[in-house]
Amino acid sequence: MKRRAFLGLGAAAAVSPAVFAVPVNRPQKFDESYDVVIVGAGGAGLAAATEAVKNKLSAIVLEKESVVGGSSLICGGQWAVGGTQEQEKRRIKDSEELFIKDMMTTGQNQNDLDVVKAYVRETKALYEWMTKDLGVKPISVTLSGGMSVPRAHTFKPAEVINALRKFAVDGGAKVVTRAKAERLLWDHERNCIAGVRVSRRGTMVNIEAKKGVVLAAGGFSRNPKMLKKYAPLLENAAVITGLGTQGEGILMAQAYGADMIDTNYIKASYGFTLKPSTIKDMALTQFKGAIVINKTGRRFMDESISYKTQADIAFAQPEGKSWMVFDDNIRKTAMKMDPMQDGILWKSIDEGKCPPYVFMGGTIEEAAQKAGLDPKVVAETVKKYNSYVDAGKDPEFGRAGLASGQGKLVRIEKAPFFIFPSVGAMIGTYCGVRITPKAEVVDVFGETIPHLYAAGEMTGGVHGASYMTGTAFSKAMSFGRIAVRAISQRK
Ligand SMILES: Cc1cc2nc3c(=O)[nH]c(=O)nc-3n(C[C@H](O)[C@H](O)[C@H](O)COP(=O)(O)OP(=O)(O)OC[C@H]3O[C@@H](n4cnc5c(N)ncnc54)[C@H](O)[C@@H]3O)c2cc1C
Repeated sequence: MKRRAFLGLGAAAAVSPAVFAVPVNRPQKFDESYDVVIVGAGGAGLAAATEAVKNKLSAIVLEKESVVGGSSLICGGQWAVGGTQEQEKRRIKDSEELFIKDMMTTGQNQNDLDVVKAYVRETKALYEWMTKDLGVKPISVTLSGGMSVPRAHTFKPAEVINALRKFAVDGGAKVVTRAKAERLLWDHERNCIAGVRVSRRGTMVNIEAKKGVVLAAGGFSRNPKMLKKYAPLLENAAVITGLGTQGEGILMAQAYGADMIDTNYIKASYGFTLKPSTIKDMALTQFKGAIVINKTGRRFMDESISYKTQADIAFAQPEGKSWMVFDDNIRKTAMKMDPMQDGILWKSIDEGKCPPYVFMGGTIEEAAQKAGLDPKVVAETVKKYNSYVDAGKDPEFGRAGLASGQGKLVRIEKAPFFIFPSVGAMIGTYCGVRITPKAEVVDVFGETIPHLYAAGEMTGGVHGASYMTGTAFSKAMSFGRIAVRAISQRK
């Protein structure tokens, strides 16, 4: 007898799901029935629903919040994709091969190559479908953390989410809000996941998934217990993720033995104002030429590395404090390149108003004085850094470019100058259940859990040890589609 079947038979009848993490038997009769039940209506869940429509599968998307979108709706909209027409127009040479290579380098080869390949292929197909058939368009293409060429296509996330939702709903998929998935249900005769127990607007219902369940319930930044367990150092970091990111999808899969991976690489993201509440509080100015200094007024890292690794290093500085230093040229470039972040953050400066979260001065010394840093040391740091730019070599930290060693370094020289106190904040957990390239959930013994699929932030394998900007939003949508396609193709 198979291990899971044994657990199902032995435990199910007497078990209360609130007490034991073992399979919960399906009821004799379900309240509702669909080919596919999708848990979570963020990018992953809604993309999964579009694929159900395309493959003529009946589908329901369960969303516990009163609005759809999750973290996907409030994200920065950066979508990494390689070899697009937008890149060609800008004479950017990119390819799927280079994208895969960059992913593996950024992830320090701790990511799963086959899963990465599946992601990179799918994100391009998805991008092409959405830009050509659903009419969503990128605002800009920019170089960001982990990329060797500009590859972050910035979209308005609400446009993307609305387009997915509309396609899914128009095609007959049901999207239900205030419907919280509580437990996965097991069919011990067919030996597979059979459905989901759901609390929907005050009533508990059992919903059958005839062909499969897709868990797309996001990460766990807002679950203090899980954060303490997997990332104790980030327990007190600011969190700005969607309200629903409480890890329930992961827990439901874990109850069936799902393996967890990449948990040792959970990181905050660097570049936020000291009290962030949305993605508009994040600067990407370091990738346009800003340097980062600590309380001593000196640099402490290569500012072109992934903003997740930057957050780790910045938290380790004296008192956990650090500041970006840049000039007006860098500010203007950053505003143009990242309209959804720097474009918003530094806008009022053009209108003659310096926002309260940055210190501005006619000289470096003046800005440093206002920031409470030693003006002389900061000025020396900038002078030294400018000499590295001129020499084309940074002997201290090996910064060889603006982002990931790419892009020509620029001097910090044009007044006014800015000093921006910045911290890391949690915008996601980026680790989770192990999946195959077909989005099947894999258990701790390496077996797939029959009829259980997962997509998006609650999965591991794509990012590995670090993170390329723009690969979480698109990973979510890509694996949502992959999961349902795999369900539709399964014999
Ligand atoms: C501020 C911010 C900025 C970001 N910027 C970027 C960016 O520019 N580029 C990028 O690539 N990534 C970015 N990310 C990360 C990226 O947005 C997410 O990793 C990705 O969108 C997650 O998609 P998802 O569908 O997996 O999860 P979500 O979009 O979070 O959706 C999960 C949904 O599941 C629901 N849910 C949870 N539990 C249950 C349950 N039990 N029952 C029913 N429903 C449930 C949630 O309420 C939620 O709506 C950003 C994230 C944040 C927070």
